[in-house]
Amino acid sequence: MSFTADRLLLFGATGDLAQRMLLPSLCALHADELVHENLQIIGTARQDFDDAGFRNFARAALEKFLPADRRGSMATFLNRLRYQPLDATNAAGYQALAAKVGPIEQGLAIFLSTAPSLFEPTIAGLAASGLTGDKVRIGLEKPLGTCLESSREINDAVARAFPEERTFRIDHYLGKETVQNLLALRFANILFEPLWNGAHIDHVQITVAETVGLEGRVGFYDGAGALRDMVQNHMLQLLALVAMEPPANYNATAIRDEKVKVLRALRLIDPSETVTGQYRAGAIGGQGVPGYDEELGKPSDTETFVAIKAHLDNWRWKGVPFYLRTGKRLPERKTEIVVQFRHVPHSIFAGRGARSVPNRLVIGIQPEENITLSLMAKVPGLDRDGFRLREVPLDIAMADAFAGPTKRIAYERLLLDLIEGDQTLFVRRDEVEAQWDWIDGIRASWTTHELKPKPYAAGTWGPSAAIALTERDGVHWHE
Ligand code: NAP
Repeated sequence: MSFTADRLLLFGATGDLAQRMLLPSLCALHADELVHENLQIIGTARQDFDDAGFRNFARAALEKFLPADRRGSMATFLNRLRYQPLDATNAAGYQALAAKVGPIEQGLAIFLSTAPSLFEPTIAGLAASGLTGDKVRIGLEKPLGTCLESSREINDAVARAFPEERTFRIDHYLGKETVQNLLALRFANILFEPLWNGAHIDHVQITVAETVGLEGRVGFYDGAGALRDMVQNHMLQLLALVAMEPPANYNATAIRDEKVKVLRALRLIDPSETVTGQYRAGAIGGQGVPGYDEELGKPSDTETFVAIKAHLDNWRWKGVPFYLRTGKRLPERKTEIVVQFRHVPHSIFAGRGARSVPNRLVIGIQPEENITLSLMAKVPGLDRDGFRLREVPLDIAMADAFAGPTKRIAYERLLLDLIEGDQTLFVRRDEVEAQWDWIDGIRASWTTHELKPKPYAAGTWGPSAAIALTERDGVHWHE
């Protein structure tokens, strides 16, 4: 049902995500007058704040995490905030929460920014206190489980109170402008689609590289690892957007129908097509950093790096490897997709000594958003020593091309869509389950083959085996 909620209930309102992303995003939406003037935001967590205390807490977070030029209307934004303390596991506390939320006839959007272990009691408490129903929708943060089975349990618990059309699973990569732009690039231009297949594309690379280490996520990360923390969600969503068939419309059903077909076409891969690693002490940007086990305080078999050669068993992508790699403590922070086209079938310039390099499309997602298409061009000159070609980039630096619009936090888009009820950029249950199905297969093969992560020095691009994974196909990672 289509409605714009006039209440937003934020669980985990005192957490890291709320401080760094959610409160700043909501304040920015308010400053740009994108949320309804009546929208009230009710925060909840165990911390014992009253409304004024929470407003002070939110002000401190905004001053820290929202650029000064987007904070203009902070005082009026803070007036929208209210707070109710609640231990989400305590069923008795939900009536007071419902009283604080007040009437929900105009619509209530709930955002669970808490550990998934709290989802089940939270859903039960919401249901018992009347905070469910046709006018209530719910947004869920990752991780949605640690395997297919646990993901199903979470999804079943949510489904007891919220049907799929009112369940909004967040993958914040989908809120990023360049990720949506990938769809525009593919489907608003005639140039790419005829070439977007195994006949013309040699391979695709997706890299999500972080320079940070554990960053205080000790308890969570050591139980998860790079495969579940990054590949299962963000990287598979990027892969699905690159590989999907053209949807008939830009809407939630059409887009998600096409993405899930891709995810179901992922071939169960052989362990020889994966490399795992764990960082040891090293240096990043000239600064010495400790190894993973030193940060953790104990030895561990958790992978902080993974590289995978993935395959899609369908007509379009037959014979096209998708190389995925992600890791912590890598030399630079970057997220990018590289689409490597094939050589021209015959080079007419070979007889003149000119070497031609195949075209490449690089979609940069982080830290800068830009799109670069490399093309071959003639080097100016009289060519008396032969015809010379050189690769030249055709750059679409998003910041320059669209100098006017503000660069938004991905959560601004997603929170607005949650409040207004547009599911296009949210992940459907069948997608999450197809993702887990593939990831579980990889993990099972690691267990069977007793694969342990290989050490790599912090500040390098992972274990040397990750280089060999592509080099044996004659492919170099794009760096
Ligand atoms: P966090 O900093 O640990 O915050 C957790 C929040 O939950 C706090 O507000 C905490 O407040 C509240 N909470 C904990 N136990 C509670 C209980 N029993 N009842 C009610 N509230 C409770 O975690 P976070 O980093 O904000 O992450 C929140 C969720 O988003 C997690 O599932 C995380 O995996 C996911 N996520 C986070 C990020 C990120 O960048 N931080 C990114 C992607 C996904 P009290 O202690 O006051 O109760």
